[in-house]
Amino acid sequence: MPERLGPPRETPLFERVALVGLGLIGSSIARATRHLNLARSIVAVDASEAVVERVREIGIADEATTDVAAGVRDADLVILCVPVGVCGTVAEAMRPGLKPGCIVSDVGSVKASVIGQVQPHLPDGVSFVPAHPVAGTEHSGPDAGFATLFHNRWCILTPPEGMDETAIESVRAFWEAMGSNVEVMTAQHHDLVLAITSHVPHLIAYNIVGTAADLETVTQGEVIKFSAGGFRDFTRIAASDPTMWRDVFLHNREAVLEMLGRLNEDIALLARAIRWGEGDKLFDLFTRTRAIRRGIISSGQETPEPDFGRRREDKT
Ligand code: NAP
Repeated sequence: MPERLGPPRETPLFERVALVGLGLIGSSIARATRHLNLARSIVAVDASEAVVERVREIGIADEATTDVAAGVRDADLVILCVPVGVCGTVAEAMRPGLKPGCIVSDVGSVKASVIGQVQPHLPDGVSFVPAHPVAGTEHSGPDAGFATLFHNRWCILTPPEGMDETAIESVRAFWEAMGSNVEVMTAQHHDLVLAITSHVPHLIAYNIVGTAADLETVTQGEVIKFSAGGFRDFTRIAASDPTMWRDVFLHNREAVLEMLGRLNEDIALLARAIRWGEGDKLFDLFTRTRAIRRGIISSGQETPEPDFGRRREDKT
């Protein structure tokens, strides 16, 4: 699947876009926004002086600051790209800078909690359109981003009931311009679906890599030396940002626990099938799961390469 951005727009979609948090996601949005001319000016806001300095060096924004209220001033679109656990604090800090008519959005991997944290701090006349780009890598920081990250990936919008339709359409247009396919659903439904498709798989990866590292009979050296494909793929996922993932689990607690309960039941059934030599049950499951993998590849959400993921030469 080619990963190419289209030509820049003649007229930007927004005058001034402020991105708060210039890590993997924020810096990817900055790069795509600049490349596609989606905003006349881009302001980068980050709590870290080092990140702000790096953003200036690599030149992915027109302005960069650690002052969130100053950074969002006069922006017509503000996107929170910070870990979900700090969204409320950031919203409170940026409130004095928000202009009437501004749209606030975010990219958090959990939606109901972010809505609960952010909405109470937004003044009247400011619209909130939460979003979650279902795209990412295990890398963090402003150097990890790339402009094609969202290309041919889903972006889920979870606007609270009664939200201004024009604001929703503006955010949809922004993500579509970056190459995403946009879907709208409730925050609760999003959190349940993502618990099984993203959050629980990450928990399993963290768990299996942790267990292997702790095994007394296998030294860590041997775990690395003999890591077969399956384990290697888990280590890639388990290298994901600790702050981001701690917050995801703490803020999507109910849905993750619900899905973990089901998973535990299914693992018990698998253990039983292995114990009693019920090969047909294992074979049937593995045949079904192989079909799911093939479906993901044919829908363009994954490449068939055994080494999983995007090729470097596809990145802009
Ligand atoms: P990241 O690379 O770690 O970047 C987060 C940035 O936010 C860092 O520069 C961080 O600075 C900064 N930050 C932290 N607290 C802040 C605050 N209070 N005010 C301003 N800046 C602050 O993380 P990411 O992967 O881009 O993730 C950002 C968001 O995107 C998360 O909500 C995550 O759930 C969501 N998301 C991530 C992925 C993914 O695969 N990574 C995919 C979809 C959505 P420090 O480094 O100094 O803390």
